[in-house]
Amino acid sequence: MEEILKSIAAEIVRQDDWGKTAQYIPELASVDPQQFGISVCLADGRLISAGAATKPFSVQSITKVFALVAALGRVGDQLWSRVGREPSGNSFDSVVLLERELGRPRNPYVNAGAIVTTDALLSGREPKMALAEILGLIRHMSESDSIYINETVAASEQETGARNKALAYYLKSHGNLNSDPELTLGTYFHQCAIEMTTDQLAMAGRSLAGLKGAPKVISRQRARRVNALMMTCGHYDGSGDFAFRVGLPGKSGVGGGILAIAPNVASIAIWSPGLNLYGNSHAGTRAAEMLSNATKWSVF
Ligand code: GLN
Repeated sequence: MEEILKSIAAEIVRQDDWGKTAQYIPELASVDPQQFGISVCLADGRLISAGAATKPFSVQSITKVFALVAALGRVGDQLWSRVGREPSGNSFDSVVLLERELGRPRNPYVNAGAIVTTDALLSGREPKMALAEILGLIRHMSESDSIYINETVAASEQETGARNKALAYYLKSHGNLNSDPELTLGTYFHQCAIEMTTDQLAMAGRSLAGLKGAPKVISRQRARRVNALMMTCGHYDGSGDFAFRVGLPGKSGVGGGILAIAPNVASIAIWSPGLNLYGNSHAGTRAAEMLSNATKWSVF
């Protein structure tokens, strides 16, 4: 595994096209796109990494997975009355389907769905309580207390997040947001601004992969469902392409991170900030494809 990761990192570093960082969040736009890290937690408990695996980056939409785990723990399957389980075939911040489908987002991994999930976690509490729950869960799952929220990134998105604000108010108009939209949005932006290293993220994915020794935060049945949604919806309108090329449940973030799960075998975290047209990491997807080819971990 050390050799595989080293050779993937070496190949990525040689590439010409790194993609482009997220331009709509100024703090992310200014990150150097030519960075790469990869970490793998194996079933025997080993953590193996290559490249910039100890550098914190903005995990962004990958937190939607942890927020979903927390919300299901809090409200259970009732959550599914507010958010669906189908791929959207649209970009992560699309408004189109929300209008046609009367304010019930397609799935918990597009922004509208994640705003509903965060709202379910908030449920009348102070935003800092909901954030403490998400952050606490992530710290517990990764066995790392040093994980934090980058306030500058949260503020940067708060300033430019007109589209997410539109989604939240639209949800509110359909009665699918319980809290004040500004409170839910503030919680959501702060949740997205959590920073982790690929080492920490790979550790956090162990419970979803069902690896031995992972903190027991979710039942196997629920983990299977969370993973199924990662496979079908985790890369938005690039989910089909990710399944085709990698064949593993995966969740991307606009910070350039990817969490991929090889059930019962491994938890994988990859980071490279340059994105492709779908807003998923360009080099990260390439690296995930190389790893899947080398290990035959595709579930297909
Ligand atoms: N915070 C980002 C947003 O809401 C998350 C999107 C993403 O990572 N795909 O736009």
